[in-house]
Amino acid sequence: MDFDALTHDDPEVAELILAEHRRQRDTLDLIASENLCPRAVREVMASLLTDKYAEGYPGRRWYGGCEVVDEVERLAIARGKALFGCEHINVQPHSGSQANMAVYFAALEPGDTILSMNLAHGGHLTHGQESNFSGRLYRIVHYGVSPETERIDYDALARQAREVRPAMLVGGASSYPRAIDVARMADIAHDVGARLLIDMAHFAGLVVGGVHPDPVPVADFVTATTHKTLRGPRGGLVICKKEDARHIDHTVFPGIQGGPLMHVIAGKAVSFALAMAEEFRTYQQRVVANCRAMADEMALLGYRLVSGGTDTHLFLVDLRPMHLTGARVQAWLGSAGIVTNKNVIPFDDQPPSDPSGVRLGTPSLTSRGADEADVRQAARWIDRVLRASDPSAEAERLRPEVVDFCRSHPIPE
Ligand SMILES: *Cc1c(COP(=O)(O)O)cnc(C)c1O
Repeated sequence: MDFDALTHDDPEVAELILAEHRRQRDTLDLIASENLCPRAVREVMASLLTDKYAEGYPGRRWYGGCEVVDEVERLAIARGKALFGCEHINVQPHSGSQANMAVYFAALEPGDTILSMNLAHGGHLTHGQESNFSGRLYRIVHYGVSPETERIDYDALARQAREVRPAMLVGGASSYPRAIDVARMADIAHDVGARLLIDMAHFAGLVVGGVHPDPVPVADFVTATTHKTLRGPRGGLVICKKEDARHIDHTVFPGIQGGPLMHVIAGKAVSFALAMAEEFRTYQQRVVANCRAMADEMALLGYRLVSGGTDTHLFLVDLRPMHLTGARVQAWLGSAGIVTNKNVIPFDDQPPSDPSGVRLGTPSLTSRGADEADVRQAARWIDRVLRASDPSAEAERLRPEVVDFCRSHPIPE
């Protein structure tokens, strides 16, 4: 990594970036929402496009000098439309949360009812958490997973939708290990006159790779982050039909944002192009195959997985049978160099600060070239720590093996 100017002007921040570089280089990242974006995307984000104010949209800006960034955004839009096969895409949302905010503000009035996934069953903050804007502005009713299968029961959801009559049904989650039946969700929403938002923040890359059902043809609105499985810069996007295009655009700007981050939008354009390549399809297939293999190995080692497994890039381990909780497991694995996050599981009786689960995902590891044998090894490493009589000491012993693995599977430099 070279940043001579920064090293000269601010050695303190330069040293912190180098420390983060060493941390990423020498640890296994199993956080399902994280990935390693290619160097080209990082170069674009470090470019002078960050200097340009471009409030508005290509050809209709509030500032002069936008002729080049107009081309950047037009390119991102054209590539986004081709990649997702959609009628309209807005590439300006600064984050996934702002993409969801844009959809709610465009399609709903404050006080309207949103039917969304229970946060404890995998839903996101923006799906109605009480201190989030969504929970404060709308009437939130949650659906969850069935206690028996730990999967969404679509018949129960259809009955609930008929009772609740929401203005909007939201599908998509942050810690649900199963594919979402987007076609069924569309039937359920449209039967009760609700609009359907599919929040594919987590699984946008899987959709592009053809390993998750595609919500774009069936949903009224689709939102995504660009930094999770899509492996682009940190940001968000909204996809909708032609008839909602003006409304969505007007809600993003001037409704909820000012100047777009043109350096990030350029990064989105680059990552969309990379996502159109055949290698990206193969990558997504490998993410899912690796996740299945890792989940399978954990199950063979005796762990209980929520819903019994996974169809996606992530799975959830129920730690209750081991008499463990998420916070300790995250800390122990962290000292071995295996980075995870503690997570609530459905019907958890532990508090969110120390829940009964840990969430594991394969996007980042797969970006480093890990294969099924590697992820099975990672599962055995996790088991070695968790079953040790002294997990902290075992984590210390394991640490050099993890570093060896990391060195042979480098991050993009
Ligand atoms: C990650 C995520 C988001 C939003 O992400 P930001 O951190 O705001 O970019 C939205 N919805 C779901 C389901 C997510 O997992």
